[in-house]
Amino acid sequence: MSKCRFCNTKLRHTFSDLGFSPPSNSFLNKVDLLSPEKYYPLKVQVCENCYLVQINEFAKHNEIFNDNYAYFSSFSSSWLKHAKDYTEMMTKKLGLNSSSLVIEIASNDGYLLQYFNNNNIPVLGIEPTANTAQVAIKKGINTKIDFFGKKLAKEIANDYNADLILGNNVLAHVPDINDFVSGLQYVLKPDGIITFEFPHLLELIKFTQFDTIYHEHYSYLSLLFINKLFEKHNLKVFDVEQLKTHGGSLRIYAKHNDCELYPQTERSLQILDLELEYGLDQMETYEKFQVLSESLKDNFIEFLIDAKKNNKKVVGYGAAAKGNTFINFSGIKKDLISYVVDKSDFKQIDLIVLSKADVYFDEEMLELKTDKVKYRKSQELIMNFNNGGDLGYEKFSENKYFYIWKLYENFSE
Ligand SMILES: [Zn+2]
Repeated sequence: MSKCRFCNTKLRHTFSDLGFSPPSNSFLNKVDLLSPEKYYPLKVQVCENCYLVQINEFAKHNEIFNDNYAYFSSFSSSWLKHAKDYTEMMTKKLGLNSSSLVIEIASNDGYLLQYFNNNNIPVLGIEPTANTAQVAIKKGINTKIDFFGKKLAKEIANDYNADLILGNNVLAHVPDINDFVSGLQYVLKPDGIITFEFPHLLELIKFTQFDTIYHEHYSYLSLLFINKLFEKHNLKVFDVEQLKTHGGSLRIYAKHNDCELYPQTERSLQILDLELEYGLDQMETYEKFQVLSESLKDNFIEFLIDAKKNNKKVVGYGAAAKGNTFINFSGIKKDLISYVVDKSDFKQIDLIVLSKADVYFDEEMLELKTDKVKYRKSQELIMNFNNGGDLGYEKFSENKYFYIWKLYENFSE
């Protein structure tokens, strides 16, 4: 029996079982199609002691985060804007200048640090994926190619002491969450601030977002759990913001436990209350999730079969990891979703892992003569391509991220 990554309690409760799946952010090329694929169990458990929702670590870390890792943040214009707004807000809030230091963990291709860099605020990016980090280094962004944890933090603590440490969508992707968070205290100045953004578990449960579950995503985080995690490592969460990104995220602000600046904010207490009202401290809340996921899947398959019987074609938009999880769990093949369109040309030559559906660059979209494209922005939209060109090609382009075939509770026409 596996044990909780945070508190070592034996894990006896399943939150979500999505069967077996290949790593969802890897894509196949035409040669790969001739070879067998690797599948790993995709099962998420919840700890009855600390309520950390967590995946079993079957896939080896370096098998997933290899040089073929197909995600570059900079490809999305809306994400860049999100990053830029953040840098402006924090520069003002902390009065950052040329004698400050900002560290970003999982700094990717420098999509965010570039804005600090442009304003002569010193930065350090830490990024384990070499090909991605090289893009940042070429842009002149100081970057270390490594995984962050206690060991690295102690190594660099003499040279780097940050006013601001940030990480966007990294906390959920770390296998050893204790080692990761315990490293933070070594590289944070006494009055420094840490911010992390991660998808909010409350939203995942509320909207049955099982498609945000994938191998690279080790933990599913609530504020209830995060408070415990940071406290254990001498840090304190003092403020929390709700964001619309990734289907509903939290941005937490933390400081050293003994730092007397920054009082606890009202909104951070309110968000915790929301979680408790929803029952995130009760096992029943977690145990209902599987049933809801399966019924959503069943409805969707019914829709696809119905469309096929009526000679309609359904295609996907957005070759995101979430789409892979969804079509994999649903067992959908090419006969039901003909192909997928994505904005990022990095993925265009490759194929969605399971359905073996072709992935096209989105200019192809202009040529489509299909009956329906379903995609989700923050909730969902159903788009009809038959009504000529008034369909808003623009609307697609600004939303690379987020695919289609996810239809939440309003899934009906
Ligand atoms: Zn636990």
